[in-house]
Amino acid sequence: MTRAFETVIGLEVHVQLATETKLFCSCPTSYIGKEPNSMVCPVCLGLPGTLPSLNGRAVELGITAALAMGCSINRNSRFHRKNYFYPDLPKAFQISQYDLPLAVCGSIPIFIGGRKKIIGITRLHLEEDAGKLVHGSSDGRLSGTSFSLVDYNRAGIPLAEIVSEPDLSSPEEAREYVLAIRRLVRYLGVSDGDMESGSLRVDANISQKCTDGRWGNRVEIKNLNSVRAMERALEHETVRQRDILSGGGAVKQETRHWDDVAGSTRPTRGKEEAHDYRYFPEPDLPAIVVCDPMVRRLEEGIPELPWAKRERFEMEWGLDPMDSTALSERLDVAEFLEGVVAAGADSGISANWVRTDIMRILKETGLKADELPFTPEALGDLLVKISKGVLSNTAAKDVLEQMYRKGLDVAAAMNAAGVDPGGISEGTLEGVIRKVLEANPVEAGLILSGEDPSGKKKKFLQGLVMREIRGQSPVQDVASMMDKVMGEMKKPNGSSV
Ligand SMILES: [Zn+2]
Repeated sequence: MTRAFETVIGLEVHVQLATETKLFCSCPTSYIGKEPNSMVCPVCLGLPGTLPSLNGRAVELGITAALAMGCSINRNSRFHRKNYFYPDLPKAFQISQYDLPLAVCGSIPIFIGGRKKIIGITRLHLEEDAGKLVHGSSDGRLSGTSFSLVDYNRAGIPLAEIVSEPDLSSPEEAREYVLAIRRLVRYLGVSDGDMESGSLRVDANISQKCTDGRWGNRVEIKNLNSVRAMERALEHETVRQRDILSGGGAVKQETRHWDDVAGSTRPTRGKEEAHDYRYFPEPDLPAIVVCDPMVRRLEEGIPELPWAKRERFEMEWGLDPMDSTALSERLDVAEFLEGVVAAGADSGISANWVRTDIMRILKETGLKADELPFTPEALGDLLVKISKGVLSNTAAKDVLEQMYRKGLDVAAAMNAAGVDPGGISEGTLEGVIRKVLEANPVEAGLILSGEDPSGKKKKFLQGLVMREIRGQSPVQDVASMMDKVMGEMKKPNGSSV
């Protein structure tokens, strides 16, 4: 008998909080690329007699993220010791939160194929990161190594762990959720959310629910180093678990390691098997007491959230889902676009320009939108000129290039691009058209005698005119002026070609 299954996924996302210093000491957090064990002190090395001192900024960032996800902030929360022995943990325990996390019960929306789905957030808690082991084997793995080195620069880095409800029902939804969390923490300035450098890490829990009501056991997957790796691991694990259940077997409850090269998961050995962490309250740290004024202050600093912007761009401006998603991805880009529209430019034209030209410039330069040499108002002015027919699209692109390369304002950039601020007069345009027709008598003659049914010859001549006037008139103006001039030529008393 074939059975149908539903996939049930919950994710634990660790984000590195964007603080200057570590969670319990004043060592700097900028450890990437630094000499191993150069960013350490007696506290983060766990030397006897040292005491932790909580970084208040990390608490603020954690609360900010939690508020944005609609969580309730626990007015009293506390730290616990999570005990396990592993060389990357100098104290042999990690300071984390257990039964009283910083925040609980929130949610965020994700969008799948135009459909909105709400994903529950179980909790957000603070914890310190462990150090990093570097294994001596040629492939950098633990198996087959003759020695391992440890670097404690990362030990004590502040993390927020965001635990979702098991509301995700496919690898695709899991991907959208991780991208939504990353977008959110970047919007809030809570974390750089960079998976490549390890600022955002994901562990996944996955199980199968059979339509006959039976449940397969839950499997935890670790070593998911990219969104793509996570998606592949979840796809692989879905098939593996369904095969076992279809064959009448039972899925073992365990932690499995994703092998990105092999494209499969395997059971882990090591610290993850030690389930008894003997949690107990951290005696060296007082409870975190959060007062209402602090919550209000942090709430006021939260910008409009990415999903709200996305919906507004669609509802108010009529952008399609692809554009609204792309344009709400980064706060700097979304705010730049809002500035362009606020300057009076048409929202559709603005969206198009920001998504293509501005995004290209940002990609080329690595700048943020608010670091560009021109303001959103300046681009707005330029785009208004297109709408009014003063500038063609082509000429406006030349002007933007001057604004960006030379840091010029609109007027100076129009000058530099050789664009007449007043646009081309009708008389000038007519003169140019007559000149082009005279220089191309064969094409003009064929058009006049009705031997250009596809209109190709006409397009060709219009192109020559556009080049001559450097795109300073909208193409429809060129077309109607050319029709007028040629209409006069057809009349018996008109000038001949
Ligand atoms: Zn330290």
